[in-house]
Amino acid sequence: MQRSLKAQAHASSISAVLSRDLRQQAPVITKSSGIYYYTADGRRIIDACGGSAVACVGHDNARVKTAVRKQMDTVPYCHSQFFTTAASEELAATVIDSTKGRMARLLTLSSGSEALEAALKLARQYYLELRNPQPSRKHFIARLPSYHGATLTTLGIGGHLGRRGPFEPILPTNSSRVSQCNTYRGLGDGESIEAYVSRLVQELDDEFARFPEGTVCAFVAEPVTGASTGTVPAPHGYFDGVKRVCEKHGALLILDEVMCGMGRTGTMHAWEQENVVPNIQVIGKAFGAGYVPISGVLIDREVNRVLESGTSKFSHGQSFQAHPSACAAALEVQNIIKEDGLLSNVREMGSRLATSLHTAVASHSNVGEIRGRGLFWSIEVVRDKVTKEPLPLELSAGYSIHELAMQEPYNICLYPGKGTVDGVVGDHVLIAPPYNVTPAEIDMIVERVATVLSDFFSFKQ
Ligand code: PLP
Repeated sequence: MQRSLKAQAHASSISAVLSRDLRQQAPVITKSSGIYYYTADGRRIIDACGGSAVACVGHDNARVKTAVRKQMDTVPYCHSQFFTTAASEELAATVIDSTKGRMARLLTLSSGSEALEAALKLARQYYLELRNPQPSRKHFIARLPSYHGATLTTLGIGGHLGRRGPFEPILPTNSSRVSQCNTYRGLGDGESIEAYVSRLVQELDDEFARFPEGTVCAFVAEPVTGASTGTVPAPHGYFDGVKRVCEKHGALLILDEVMCGMGRTGTMHAWEQENVVPNIQVIGKAFGAGYVPISGVLIDREVNRVLESGTSKFSHGQSFQAHPSACAAALEVQNIIKEDGLLSNVREMGSRLATSLHTAVASHSNVGEIRGRGLFWSIEVVRDKVTKEPLPLELSAGYSIHELAMQEPYNICLYPGKGTVDGVVGDHVLIAPPYNVTPAEIDMIVERVATVLSDFFSFKQ
Protein backbone atom coordinates (compact mmCIF):
# COMPACT_ATOMS: atom_id res chain seq x y z
CA MET A 1 0.00 0.00 0.00
CA GLN A 2 2.68 2.41 1.09
CA ARG A 3 4.77 2.06 -2.03
CA SER A 4 1.86 1.95 -4.45
CA LEU A 5 0.24 5.02 -2.97
CA LYS A 6 3.54 6.79 -2.94
CA ALA A 7 4.06 5.89 -6.55
CA GLN A 8 0.67 7.30 -7.41
CA ALA A 9 1.01 10.44 -5.32
CA HIS A 10 0.68 13.44 -7.52
CA ALA A 11 3.43 15.90 -6.92
CA SER A 12 1.10 18.55 -8.31
CA SER A 13 -1.44 17.85 -5.53
CA ILE A 14 1.25 18.20 -2.92
CA SER A 15 2.58 21.41 -4.36
CA ALA A 16 -0.99 22.74 -4.68
CA VAL A 17 -1.53 21.99 -1.00
CA LEU A 18 1.70 23.68 -0.05
CA SER A 19 0.81 26.73 -2.11
CA ARG A 20 -2.69 26.74 -0.63
CA ASP A 21 -4.36 26.31 -4.07
CA LEU A 22 -6.61 23.52 -2.82
CA ARG A 23 -7.97 25.40 0.19
CA GLN A 24 -11.71 25.92 0.48
CA GLN A 25 -12.64 23.30 -2.11
CA ALA A 26 -14.71 21.07 0.12
CA PRO A 27 -15.80 17.87 -1.64
CA VAL A 28 -19.55 17.40 -2.05
CA ILE A 29 -20.70 14.34 -0.07
CA THR A 30 -23.55 12.35 -1.55
CA LYS A 31 -23.61 9.43 0.89
CA SER A 32 -21.93 8.36 4.09
CA SER A 33 -21.78 4.92 5.65
CA GLY A 34 -19.66 3.28 8.36
CA ILE A 35 -16.33 5.11 8.36
CA TYR A 36 -16.70 6.31 4.76
CA TYR A 37 -17.83 9.43 2.96
CA TYR A 38 -18.76 9.06 -0.71
CA THR A 39 -18.17 12.14 -2.84
CA ALA A 40 -19.97 13.45 -5.91
CA ASP A 41 -16.77 12.97 -7.91
CA GLY A 42 -16.81 9.23 -7.19
CA ARG A 43 -14.32 8.97 -4.33
CA ARG A 44 -14.57 7.10 -1.03
CA ILE A 45 -12.93 9.04 1.79
CA ILE A 46 -12.16 7.43 5.15
CA ASP A 47 -13.50 9.52 8.02
CA ALA A 48 -10.68 8.87 10.47
CA CYS A 49 -11.70 11.67 12.83
CA GLY A 50 -15.50 11.38 13.03
CA GLY A 51 -15.78 14.98 11.82
CA SER A 52 -14.45 16.56 15.00
CA ALA A 53 -14.64 13.41 17.20
CA VAL A 54 -18.42 13.35 16.74
CA ALA A 55 -19.47 10.33 14.63
CA CYS A 56 -19.00 7.63 17.28
CA VAL A 57 -21.24 4.87 15.87
CA GLY A 58 -20.46 5.32 12.18
CA HIS A 59 -22.32 7.27 9.53
CA ASP A 60 -25.27 5.09 8.63
CA ASN A 61 -26.54 3.52 11.81
CA ALA A 62 -30.00 2.08 11.18
CA ARG A 63 -30.95 1.98 14.88
CA VAL A 64 -30.30 5.68 15.45
CA LYS A 65 -32.12 6.66 12.27
CA THR A 66 -35.11 4.51 13.21
CA ALA A 67 -35.23 6.00 16.71
CA VAL A 68 -35.26 9.53 15.30
CA ARG A 69 -37.92 8.66 12.71
CA LYS A 70 -40.12 7.10 15.41
CA GLN A 71 -39.82 10.21 17.56
CA MET A 72 -40.54 12.41 14.55
CA ASP A 73 -43.71 10.39 13.94
CA THR A 74 -44.95 10.88 17.51
CA VAL A 75 -43.65 14.07 19.15
CA PRO A 76 -41.03 15.78 16.99
CA TYR A 77 -40.97 18.89 19.18
CA CYS A 78 -42.33 20.32 22.39
CA HIS A 79 -41.14 23.17 24.57
CA SER A 80 -39.33 21.88 27.66
CA GLN A 81 -40.80 24.69 29.77
CA PHE A 82 -44.27 23.17 29.45
CA PHE A 83 -43.79 19.46 28.66
CA THR A 84 -41.43 16.56 28.90
CA THR A 85 -41.12 13.36 26.84
CA ALA A 86 -40.20 9.75 27.51
CA ALA A 87 -37.12 10.22 25.31
CA SER A 88 -35.78 13.11 27.36
CA GLU A 89 -36.60 11.50 30.73
CA GLU A 90 -35.05 8.18 29.71
CA LEU A 91 -31.98 9.89 28.32
CA ALA A 92 -31.43 11.79 31.57
CA ALA A 93 -31.84 8.60 33.63
CA THR A 94 -29.43 6.69 31.34
CA VAL A 95 -26.72 9.35 31.44
CA ILE A 96 -27.02 9.85 35.19
CA ASP A 97 -26.85 6.09 35.65
CA SER A 98 -23.66 6.02 33.56
CA THR A 99 -22.05 8.31 36.17
CA LYS A 100 -22.91 5.70 38.82
CA GLY A 101 -25.10 8.30 40.46
CA ARG A 102 -22.26 10.77 40.98
CA MET A 103 -24.02 13.32 38.83
CA ALA A 104 -27.60 14.11 39.72
CA ARG A 105 -29.26 16.03 36.91
CA LEU A 106 -28.95 16.57 33.16
CA LEU A 107 -29.85 19.60 31.09
CA THR A 108 -29.85 18.96 27.35
CA LEU A 109 -29.05 21.64 24.80
CA SER A 110 -27.91 21.71 21.20
CA SER A 111 -24.19 22.49 21.02
CA GLY A 112 -21.07 22.30 23.12
CA SER A 113 -20.71 26.08 23.19
CA GLU A 114 -24.25 26.56 24.51
CA ALA A 115 -23.71 23.85 27.10
CA LEU A 116 -20.53 25.55 28.32
CA GLU A 117 -22.40 28.87 28.57
CA ALA A 118 -25.11 27.16 30.59
CA ALA A 119 -22.50 25.51 32.83
CA LEU A 120 -20.92 28.89 33.63
CA LYS A 121 -24.35 30.33 34.44
CA LEU A 122 -25.17 27.33 36.62
CA ALA A 123 -21.96 27.77 38.60
CA ARG A 124 -22.97 31.35 39.29
CA GLN A 125 -26.53 30.30 40.12
CA TYR A 126 -25.20 27.76 42.63
CA TYR A 127 -23.44 30.50 44.62
CA LEU A 128 -26.50 32.75 44.50
CA GLU A 129 -28.76 29.99 45.84
CA LEU A 130 -26.53 28.91 48.74
CA ARG A 131 -28.08 29.41 52.18
CA ASN A 132 -25.47 32.18 52.56
CA PRO A 133 -25.27 33.46 48.99
CA GLN A 134 -21.88 34.44 47.55
CA PRO A 135 -22.73 36.99 44.83
CA SER A 136 -19.10 38.14 44.64
CA ARG A 137 -18.13 34.95 42.82
CA LYS A 138 -17.93 35.96 39.18
CA HIS A 139 -14.43 35.10 37.97
CA PHE A 140 -13.51 31.93 36.06
CA ILE A 141 -10.09 30.35 35.70
CA ALA A 142 -9.39 28.23 32.63
CA ARG A 143 -6.21 27.13 30.87
CA LEU A 144 -3.94 28.27 28.06
CA PRO A 145 -4.16 26.73 25.51
CA SER A 146 -7.75 25.52 25.63
CA TYR A 147 -10.97 25.68 23.65
CA HIS A 148 -14.42 25.80 25.21
CA GLY A 149 -16.64 27.11 22.42
CA ALA A 150 -17.33 29.75 19.81
CA THR A 151 -19.77 32.06 21.59
CA LEU A 152 -18.39 35.25 23.08
CA THR A 153 -18.34 34.05 26.67
CA THR A 154 -16.90 30.60 25.95
CA LEU A 155 -14.33 32.09 23.58
CA GLY A 156 -13.51 34.57 26.34
CA ILE A 157 -12.97 31.78 28.89
CA GLY A 158 -10.94 29.67 26.48
CA GLY A 159 -7.31 30.04 25.59
CA HIS A 160 -7.39 29.45 21.85
CA LEU A 161 -5.39 32.43 20.67
CA GLY A 162 -6.11 31.90 16.97
CA ARG A 163 -9.87 31.77 17.43
CA ARG A 164 -9.95 34.61 20.00
CA GLY A 165 -7.84 36.89 17.75
CA PRO A 166 -10.22 39.24 15.94
CA PHE A 167 -12.80 39.19 18.74
CA GLU A 168 -10.44 39.97 21.61
CA PRO A 169 -11.81 43.52 22.15
CA ILE A 170 -15.38 42.28 22.64
CA LEU A 171 -14.72 39.20 24.79
CA PRO A 172 -15.89 39.23 28.43
CA THR A 173 -12.96 39.81 30.77
CA ASN A 174 -14.06 37.96 33.91
CA SER A 175 -11.66 35.08 33.33
CA SER A 176 -7.96 34.27 33.42
CA ARG A 177 -5.86 31.31 32.41
CA VAL A 178 -3.15 29.07 33.83
CA SER A 179 -0.87 26.72 31.89
CA GLN A 180 -2.35 23.64 30.32
CA CYS A 181 -0.84 20.36 31.47
CA ASN A 182 1.18 19.13 28.48
CA THR A 183 4.27 17.06 29.26
CA TYR A 184 5.59 17.29 25.68
CA ARG A 185 5.63 21.08 25.58
CA GLY A 186 5.60 22.04 29.25
CA LEU A 187 7.96 19.73 31.13
CA GLY A 188 11.12 21.58 32.22
CA ASP A 189 14.64 20.24 31.55
CA GLY A 190 15.28 17.39 33.97
CA GLU A 191 11.92 17.94 35.64
CA SER A 192 10.05 14.80 36.77
CA ILE A 193 6.40 14.29 35.89
CA GLU A 194 5.52 14.52 39.61
CA ALA A 195 7.39 17.83 39.98
CA TYR A 196 5.70 19.17 36.82
CA VAL A 197 2.25 18.23 38.11
CA SER A 198 2.98 19.85 41.50
CA ARG A 199 4.24 22.99 39.76
CA LEU A 200 1.02 23.31 37.73
CA VAL A 201 -1.19 22.63 40.72
CA GLN A 202 0.72 25.34 42.58
CA GLU A 203 0.28 27.68 39.60
CA LEU A 204 -3.48 27.23 39.89
CA ASP A 205 -3.37 27.84 43.63
CA ASP A 206 -1.34 31.02 43.00
CA GLU A 207 -3.87 32.13 40.37
CA PHE A 208 -6.70 31.78 42.89
CA ALA A 209 -4.61 33.81 45.34
CA ARG A 210 -4.40 36.71 42.85
CA PHE A 211 -8.10 37.35 43.37
CA PRO A 212 -9.85 38.34 46.57
CA GLU A 213 -11.08 35.29 48.51
CA GLY A 214 -14.57 34.26 47.47
CA THR A 215 -14.56 35.81 44.00
CA VAL A 216 -13.71 32.82 41.80
CA CYS A 217 -16.68 30.77 40.63
CA ALA A 218 -14.98 27.83 38.99
CA PHE A 219 -11.95 26.32 37.30
CA VAL A 220 -12.72 25.01 33.80
CA ALA A 221 -10.65 22.32 32.06
CA GLU A 222 -10.83 19.41 29.64
CA PRO A 223 -9.69 16.05 31.09
CA VAL A 224 -8.09 15.28 27.71
CA THR A 225 -7.49 18.43 25.68
CA GLY A 226 -8.90 18.26 22.16
CA ALA A 227 -9.42 21.13 19.76
CA SER A 228 -6.67 23.45 21.01
CA THR A 229 -3.65 21.13 21.17
CA GLY A 230 -4.75 17.72 19.95
CA THR A 231 -5.54 14.98 22.49
CA VAL A 232 -3.31 15.83 25.43
CA PRO A 233 -4.08 13.68 28.48
CA ALA A 234 -2.77 15.04 31.79
CA PRO A 235 -0.59 12.73 33.90
CA HIS A 236 -2.57 11.03 36.66
CA GLY A 237 -2.52 13.15 39.79
CA TYR A 238 -3.03 16.46 38.00
CA PHE A 239 -6.84 16.47 38.24
CA ASP A 240 -6.70 15.23 41.83
CA GLY A 241 -4.49 18.19 42.57
CA VAL A 242 -6.61 20.82 40.83
CA LYS A 243 -9.79 19.52 42.46
CA ARG A 244 -8.14 19.93 45.88
CA VAL A 245 -7.19 23.52 44.99
CA CYS A 246 -10.78 24.27 43.92
CA GLU A 247 -12.08 22.83 47.20
CA LYS A 248 -9.54 24.84 49.20
CA HIS A 249 -10.91 28.03 47.64
CA GLY A 250 -14.56 26.96 47.76
CA ALA A 251 -14.80 27.06 43.95
CA LEU A 252 -16.39 24.55 41.59
CA LEU A 253 -14.62 22.25 39.13
CA ILE A 254 -16.21 22.31 35.66
CA LEU A 255 -14.94 19.56 33.36
CA ASP A 256 -15.48 20.13 29.67
CA GLU A 257 -15.94 16.67 28.14
CA VAL A 258 -17.49 17.97 24.92
CA MET A 259 -14.76 16.38 22.82
CA CYS A 260 -13.20 13.74 25.07
CA GLY A 261 -16.38 12.47 26.75
CA MET A 262 -19.20 9.99 26.22
CA GLY A 263 -16.91 7.02 25.64
CA ARG A 264 -14.21 8.57 23.46
CA THR A 265 -11.33 7.79 25.87
CA GLY A 266 -12.46 4.25 26.76
CA THR A 267 -14.68 5.03 29.75
CA MET A 268 -18.03 6.72 29.40
CA HIS A 269 -16.66 9.79 31.18
CA ALA A 270 -13.01 10.80 30.93
CA TRP A 271 -13.01 11.87 34.60
CA GLU A 272 -13.55 8.24 35.64
CA GLN A 273 -9.85 7.68 34.82
CA GLU A 274 -8.74 10.64 36.94
CA ASN A 275 -10.06 9.78 40.37
CA VAL A 276 -12.11 12.98 40.49
CA VAL A 277 -15.76 13.85 40.05
CA PRO A 278 -16.51 17.30 38.65
CA ASN A 279 -19.18 19.54 40.16
CA ILE A 280 -20.40 20.35 36.67
CA GLN A 281 -19.71 18.35 33.53
CA VAL A 282 -20.32 19.38 29.94
CA ILE A 283 -20.90 16.89 27.13
CA GLY A 284 -21.55 17.18 23.39
CA LYS A 285 -20.21 15.88 20.07
CA ALA A 286 -20.34 12.05 20.47
CA PHE A 287 -23.43 12.37 22.70
CA GLY A 288 -25.69 12.33 19.62
CA ALA A 289 -23.03 10.79 17.33
CA GLY A 290 -23.67 13.53 14.75
CA TYR A 291 -27.19 12.38 13.83
CA VAL A 292 -28.64 15.35 15.68
CA PRO A 293 -27.20 18.43 17.37
CA ILE A 294 -27.28 17.71 21.10
CA SER A 295 -25.16 18.57 24.13
CA GLY A 296 -25.63 18.45 27.86
CA VAL A 297 -24.73 19.79 31.28
CA LEU A 298 -24.57 17.46 34.26
CA ILE A 299 -24.50 18.68 37.84
CA ASP A 300 -23.31 16.73 40.87
CA ARG A 301 -25.38 16.01 43.98
CA GLU A 302 -24.09 19.03 45.90
CA VAL A 303 -24.94 21.54 43.17
CA ASN A 304 -28.28 19.80 42.69
CA ARG A 305 -28.99 19.86 46.44
CA VAL A 306 -28.49 23.61 46.53
CA LEU A 307 -30.68 24.18 43.47
CA GLU A 308 -33.36 21.83 44.85
CA SER A 309 -33.50 23.80 48.06
CA GLY A 310 -33.52 27.06 46.08
CA THR A 311 -35.42 27.77 42.89
CA SER A 312 -35.12 24.12 41.83
CA LYS A 313 -34.82 25.29 38.24
CA PHE A 314 -31.90 25.98 35.95
CA SER A 315 -31.91 29.68 35.16
CA HIS A 316 -31.51 28.85 31.52
CA GLY A 317 -34.16 28.39 28.86
CA GLN A 318 -33.74 27.82 25.14
CA SER A 319 -36.17 26.86 22.38
CA PHE A 320 -34.48 23.56 21.59
CA GLN A 321 -33.70 22.44 25.13
CA ALA A 322 -34.50 18.72 25.69
CA HIS A 323 -35.48 18.52 22.01
CA PRO A 324 -37.43 15.23 21.71
CA SER A 325 -35.94 14.04 18.40
CA ALA A 326 -32.43 14.91 19.56
CA CYS A 327 -32.99 13.11 22.87
CA ALA A 328 -34.31 10.03 21.03
CA ALA A 329 -31.14 9.88 18.92
CA ALA A 330 -28.80 10.37 21.87
CA LEU A 331 -30.69 7.74 23.88
CA GLU A 332 -30.31 5.19 21.09
CA VAL A 333 -26.61 6.01 20.82
CA GLN A 334 -26.25 5.27 24.55
CA ASN A 335 -28.16 1.98 24.12
CA ILE A 336 -25.92 0.94 21.23
CA ILE A 337 -22.73 1.73 23.15
CA LYS A 338 -23.97 -0.39 26.05
CA GLU A 339 -25.55 -3.29 24.17
CA ASP A 340 -22.73 -3.66 21.64
CA GLY A 341 -20.00 -3.40 24.31
CA LEU A 342 -18.45 -0.49 22.45
CA LEU A 343 -16.44 0.88 25.38
CA SER A 344 -14.32 -2.25 25.43
CA ASN A 345 -13.90 -1.94 21.65
CA VAL A 346 -12.72 1.66 22.18
CA ARG A 347 -10.08 0.38 24.61
CA GLU A 348 -9.04 -2.55 22.41
CA MET A 349 -8.98 -0.66 19.11
CA GLY A 350 -7.45 2.36 20.86
CA SER A 351 -4.57 0.23 21.99
CA ARG A 352 -4.18 -1.20 18.45
CA LEU A 353 -4.25 2.31 16.99
CA ALA A 354 -1.65 3.56 19.46
CA THR A 355 0.71 0.63 18.91
CA SER A 356 0.36 0.71 15.12
CA LEU A 357 0.87 4.47 14.94
CA HIS A 358 4.02 4.18 17.02
CA THR A 359 5.32 1.36 14.82
CA ALA A 360 4.44 3.13 11.57
CA VAL A 361 5.40 6.75 12.18
CA ALA A 362 7.17 7.31 15.52
CA SER A 363 10.62 7.09 13.95
CA HIS A 364 9.80 9.66 11.24
CA SER A 365 12.13 12.62 11.64
CA ASN A 366 9.21 15.09 11.68
CA VAL A 367 7.01 13.25 14.17
CA GLY A 368 7.43 14.91 17.54
CA GLU A 369 4.85 13.12 19.63
CA ILE A 370 2.07 10.55 19.27
CA ARG A 371 -0.35 10.95 22.16
CA GLY A 372 -3.88 10.24 23.25
CA ARG A 373 -6.21 7.90 25.05
CA GLY A 374 -8.89 5.45 23.90
CA LEU A 375 -9.84 6.28 20.30
CA PHE A 376 -8.62 9.87 20.63
CA TRP A 377 -5.10 10.25 19.22
CA SER A 378 -2.92 12.96 17.70
CA ILE A 379 0.37 13.24 15.92
CA GLU A 380 2.32 16.43 16.54
CA VAL A 381 4.74 17.25 13.75
CA VAL A 382 7.91 19.28 14.28
CA ARG A 383 10.88 20.59 12.33
CA ASP A 384 13.37 19.00 14.72
CA LYS A 385 12.56 15.85 16.62
CA VAL A 386 15.33 16.33 19.19
CA THR A 387 14.85 20.02 20.03
CA LYS A 388 11.04 19.89 19.39
CA GLU A 389 11.43 23.03 17.26
CA PRO A 390 8.05 23.66 15.61
CA LEU A 391 7.60 23.80 11.86
CA PRO A 392 7.37 27.28 10.31
CA LEU A 393 3.93 28.71 11.04
CA GLU A 394 3.42 29.75 7.42
CA LEU A 395 3.57 26.08 6.38
CA SER A 396 0.51 25.47 8.53
CA ALA A 397 1.57 21.82 8.58
CA GLY A 398 -1.51 20.38 10.36
CA TYR A 399 -3.87 21.93 7.83
CA SER A 400 -1.59 21.16 4.88
CA ILE A 401 -1.37 17.49 5.87
CA HIS A 402 -5.17 17.43 6.20
CA GLU A 403 -5.57 18.97 2.75
CA LEU A 404 -3.16 16.50 1.20
CA ALA A 405 -4.79 13.54 2.95
CA MET A 406 -8.14 14.53 1.45
CA GLN A 407 -6.73 14.17 -2.09
CA GLU A 408 -6.38 11.14 -4.32
CA PRO A 409 -4.86 8.66 -3.72
CA TYR A 410 -4.91 9.05 0.09
CA ASN A 411 -8.63 9.80 0.57
CA ILE A 412 -8.60 10.11 4.34
CA CYS A 413 -9.98 12.86 6.55
CA LEU A 414 -7.82 13.85 9.54
CA TYR A 415 -8.75 16.69 11.91
CA PRO A 416 -6.09 19.43 11.65
CA GLY A 417 -4.64 21.65 14.37
CA LYS A 418 -2.48 24.71 13.96
CA GLY A 419 0.63 25.68 15.90
CA THR A 420 0.89 29.00 17.73
CA VAL A 421 3.47 31.77 17.43
CA ASP A 422 4.75 31.14 20.97
CA GLY A 423 5.37 27.44 20.13
CA VAL A 424 3.17 26.29 23.04
CA VAL A 425 0.95 24.49 20.53
CA GLY A 426 2.52 22.51 17.71
CA ASP A 427 0.96 21.60 14.36
CA HIS A 428 -0.87 18.32 14.58
CA VAL A 429 -3.51 16.04 13.11
CA LEU A 430 -6.11 14.27 15.19
CA ILE A 431 -7.51 10.75 14.69
CA ALA A 432 -10.83 9.76 16.29
CA PRO A 433 -12.54 6.85 14.51
CA PRO A 434 -15.94 5.50 15.56
CA TYR A 435 -16.26 3.26 18.63
CA ASN A 436 -17.25 0.31 16.41
CA VAL A 437 -14.18 0.59 14.18
CA THR A 438 -12.70 -2.79 13.15
CA PRO A 439 -9.05 -3.97 13.32
CA ALA A 440 -8.86 -3.90 9.50
CA GLU A 441 -10.11 -0.31 9.43
CA ILE A 442 -7.57 0.72 12.08
CA ASP A 443 -4.80 -0.84 10.01
CA MET A 444 -5.99 0.94 6.87
CA ILE A 445 -6.12 4.30 8.71
CA VAL A 446 -2.58 3.87 10.04
CA GLU A 447 -1.24 2.81 6.65
CA ARG A 448 -2.70 5.87 4.97
CA VAL A 449 -1.58 8.23 7.71
CA ALA A 450 1.97 6.88 7.38
CA THR A 451 1.91 7.38 3.62
CA VAL A 452 0.51 10.89 3.80
CA LEU A 453 3.14 11.95 6.34
CA SER A 454 5.94 10.35 4.40
CA ASP A 455 4.86 11.93 1.10
CA PHE A 456 4.21 15.32 2.66
CA PHE A 457 7.59 15.58 4.29
CA SER A 458 9.61 13.98 1.50
CA PHE A 459 8.15 16.46 -0.97
CA LYS A 460 8.61 19.41 1.32
CA GLN A 461 12.28 18.77 2.06
N1 PLP B 1 -15.59 22.37 24.27
C1 PLP B 1 -14.67 21.62 23.64
C2 PLP B 1 -13.65 20.90 24.44
C3 PLP B 1 -14.69 21.49 22.25
O1 PLP B 1 -13.77 20.73 21.65
C4 PLP B 1 -15.69 22.18 21.53
C5 PLP B 1 -15.71 22.09 20.06
O2 PLP B 1 -14.76 21.72 19.42
C6 PLP B 1 -16.63 22.94 22.22
C7 PLP B 1 -16.56 23.01 23.59
C8 PLP B 1 -17.71 23.68 21.48
O3 PLP B 1 -18.61 22.76 20.98
P1 PLP B 1 -19.54 23.12 19.73
O4 PLP B 1 -18.64 23.23 18.55
O5 PLP B 1 -20.49 21.96 19.64
O6 PLP B 1 -20.24 24.39 20.05
